[in-house]
Amino acid sequence: MLETKKVLGISFVHSNMNQLTDELHERIKDSKKTFVVTANPEILKLAGSQPSYKKTIQSADYVIPDGIGVIVASKLVGSPLHERLAGFDLMTQLLSLANDHSYRVFFLGAKPEVIEDAVHNIKKKYPHIDIAGYHHGYIDENDQSIVDEIQKKEVDLVFVGLGFPKQEEWIANHLSLFKKGIFIGVGGSFDVWANRVKRAPKVWQALNIEWLYRLLKQPSRWKRILNVFQFIFDVFFMKLTGQLKK
Ligand code: UDP
Repeated sequence: MLETKKVLGISFVHSNMNQLTDELHERIKDSKKTFVVTANPEILKLAGSQPSYKKTIQSADYVIPDGIGVIVASKLVGSPLHERLAGFDLMTQLLSLANDHSYRVFFLGAKPEVIEDAVHNIKKKYPHIDIAGYHHGYIDENDQSIVDEIQKKEVDLVFVGLGFPKQEEWIANHLSLFKKGIFIGVGGSFDVWANRVKRAPKVWQALNIEWLYRLLKQPSRWKRILNVFQFIFDVFFMKLTGQLKK
């Protein structure tokens, strides 16, 4: 089992990307059903104000710190996490693993034309992945046909990009229906695979200012970035006033 550390009531993976990928690989080999949350500060913020969503996040097998804001918060609460593990990077590692072992993968999320292009590009880069199927993300939460398809094909990896909190709720609400599979919420990653959104260059990522790059490229996201700052400020304020619990 990977080491974890509690931040704001949620147990985060405290390891590096290779250790995490190795552990998930073991679980694929053992057909162990697994729920992975890639938690950014906005997810933590919502979990702080919505107990039912917090429970959903707490029910995951692995929660990874996706965003420098989570690392900053972990330091403020006195439970410092090693490093940011970006959801997109984890997805890339898992796709590469799936390619090496011809694992069966399903993709759910994004707009119809986006998921088409994303799957096309993934197929080109990872030709040995066994693609079980894909579906856009504008679905009825209770749509049984997607569940049936994933069940029938006994999928090894399911990437769910419905944005938060929908993706975590979809996984948590359906998990008991599946026998196996790694289920992971991947936010807007399909938009990146479809070349609709560009990831920040490596230097920006290394400097932990990927959020600034996204803001410059998509100024309409300013409210979301503001939310992240407000989240950090709230944690800081709780620390100053002694209200902070791990
Ligand atoms: N999305 C979806 N179904 C919905 C709402 C959103 O599939 O009902 C998709 C949307 O098209 C986008 C992703 O969810 O691909 C959310 O992207 P965003 O950039 O907001 O996510 P982030 O990575 O910031 O969490």
